[in-house]
Amino acid sequence: MEIDALAKGVGIFSSALTALKQAVDLLPHNSKKEEAATALERAEREFKIAEAEVAKKLNYEICRKHFPPGIMLLKGEYNWECPECKNTINTFPGLPSFRPDLEADMT
Ligand SMILES: [Zn+2]
Repeated sequence: MEIDALAKGVGIFSSALTALKQAVDLLPHNSKKEEAATALERAEREFKIAEAEVAKKLNYEICRKHFPPGIMLLKGEYNWECPECKNTINTFPGLPSFRPDLEADMT
């Protein structure tokens, strides 16, 4: 699939999720609402994974400190920060495997 189409799809799905969330909020409190909220949570989780896949294809770094993964944002030429957990990594070309977050997970 073309990356543009994939990115557009993720954007559309994101808007749909927001609309659905608002709809679920308006439902009366009963078991159906709980069911809908659970299904929505599952969809949101899958969406975040798809979003991370797109981000990876667009050369973004992915934060692996939590799941679903976070999309890291560039804070300097080689410094990336996860907006969710503030995890940072350095992707300086001389340090291709410098991932303190990954090393911490292995212990
Ligand atoms: Zn993170």
